[in-house]
Amino acid sequence: MPVPINISILGSTGSIGTQTLAVVDQFKSQLKVVGLAAGGNVDLLTKQIRKYHPKVVSVKKEEDAKKIDVLWGDKGNCAVATIPVVDKVVIATPGLAGIKPTLAAIRKKKTIALATKEVLVAAGSLVTSEAAKHKIKILPIDSEHSAIFQCLESRTTEEVKRVILTASGGPFRGMKPNQLKNIRPEQALKHPNWKMGAKITIDSATLMNKGFEVCEAMWLFGVPLEKIRVIVHPQSIIHSAVEFIDGSIIAQMGPSDMRLPIQFALLYPGKRQENNFRRFSFGDYPSLSFEEPDIKTFRCLGLAFQAISVGKTATAVLTAANDIAVGAFLSGRLSFLRIPDVVESTLSAHTPKSFSELNEILEVDTWARSKAHEFVVKFGN
Ligand code: MG
Repeated sequence: MPVPINISILGSTGSIGTQTLAVVDQFKSQLKVVGLAAGGNVDLLTKQIRKYHPKVVSVKKEEDAKKIDVLWGDKGNCAVATIPVVDKVVIATPGLAGIKPTLAAIRKKKTIALATKEVLVAAGSLVTSEAAKHKIKILPIDSEHSAIFQCLESRTTEEVKRVILTASGGPFRGMKPNQLKNIRPEQALKHPNWKMGAKITIDSATLMNKGFEVCEAMWLFGVPLEKIRVIVHPQSIIHSAVEFIDGSIIAQMGPSDMRLPIQFALLYPGKRQENNFRRFSFGDYPSLSFEEPDIKTFRCLGLAFQAISVGKTATAVLTAANDIAVGAFLSGRLSFLRIPDVVESTLSAHTPKSFSELNEILEVDTWARSKAHEFVVKFGN
């Protein structure tokens, strides 16, 4: 029998975490869970511990840690990410909390399977330079980036004309600002194709998620911003594509099922293997369509492009301000159309600077959050 790949999962009770465990269940003899870290869902974590018997476990808060006798906080996350026998670390912890364990794992030569967008959006230069220094691969767990990774295969970036990032367009595709004025959180939480957490579902509705993905694609594949194009593809069947300099385009397609990119990352560089997940049927999709994103209505995408071209700490501010604005929208304190206003104002109030330490990013993050709060009050309901 082959030696199993030992994995740690950070964010094990979230959407990506539970789907990662579903993939583990499919490949029991090949994937072994040795570490789990979760936020505050102690009930589900307890069930996972009973089922998978991990060596090291961590939760977010000390009081929860005491209840079930496990580690907690940043330290706990880093311990789960650096267990000596671990080969691969799935980073699906929401927010900046994913950065420290990612860096810790890289420094211990663990392969990273990355789902947390903030890791590259806020700290892309830092994380990718550490990964290069330690010769560590960062494997994407995002349908688009997994698609690009699969399209590129062993090609060099010199052969790439452009990367084509597909976007579903979200639940409000085709709508104009006057139709979006009174959108309620429940409406924005209904994504047409993907089942995801609340925050990312709103980010898909505003197209900010696609902006983050552009930034991630730059860092993951070393492709400059000018070579990345976003195209709206409402059926979410083509997960992304790469156009090469000879004019040929290779696209990756399949069902909208996150377990596929997760499986690809967990088994990589191993062979593709059978699973019992739902199959794609051409009959269900007699036509696939494509259109330009409407960045006049969905301003977050344009703001993301601006922040990415500025670079430095601007993208950390972008994600922090967006986080506050989306939180305010979800709790009814800010209208949907005001989300980009909060992000734009916070970006304008910031002087971007270069950084070489995580602490600098964390400071900028704290500043941006409090600034964004001020703008929530200013633009709020
Ligand atoms: Mg995605």
